[in-house]
Amino acid sequence: MTLGPIAAGLVVASAAIIGTLVYRSASSSAPSFSEVLRDDHGGTTTEDDGAVAEDDGALPGDVTVFDDEYPGVANLDPDLLQALREAATDAADDGVEFNVNSGWRTPAYQNQLLREAVSKYGSEEEAARWVATADTSPHVAGNAIDIGFDARAWLSEHGAKYGLCQIYSNEPWHYELRPAATDNGCPAMYADPTHDPRMHNDGHVRPSRPDPGDPAGLSQA
Ligand SMILES: [Zn+2]
Repeated sequence: MTLGPIAAGLVVASAAIIGTLVYRSASSSAPSFSEVLRDDHGGTTTEDDGAVAEDDGALPGDVTVFDDEYPGVANLDPDLLQALREAATDAADDGVEFNVNSGWRTPAYQNQLLREAVSKYGSEEEAARWVATADTSPHVAGNAIDIGFDARAWLSEHGAKYGLCQIYSNEPWHYELRPAATDNGCPAMYADPTHDPRMHNDGHVRPSRPDPGDPAGLSQA
């Protein structure tokens, strides 16, 4: 069956409704319907049938941190990717390969994962323990990698030396770059993503630093 424009529209609308429900459970101020809808249109490469493509960050099996031809790898933050490649080069001496289960993702791909998680776990609250929204996911920002099983034990032991840290106790595959870890070791883990303050924004992008012409930030009120 081929989805016509009306059916495809319904899929997008359903996604927006689910996204809104998740936001409501995670935050007291939900984004407007149009904001969620716009996010869902953020990934222009998603095929009409809703399947994600490699341009969305989807990866086939056996992709390594050196496989630049895949956007899911190539669009990772350059510093994260460099640290991963340094670690993978050293790990290869121990016979360990750094496969990438998931890296960078488009908002559309992230939203699909969230829909699947809501279906799998049965509630928005439980899904939020495993999958972030497109607005909060470090994967969408290119700042996280889900590492293949074979490298997890090696990274758990040696990752901090490269600034590579597990962030959530319930996700032994999810690594991000924490540069200070090379000196201080990795920070304490959050039990799961719902404990991560980054997951509690209200969907609105804030300036990362004060406007230099307005040091008190008064114009942002
Ligand atoms: Zn992850």
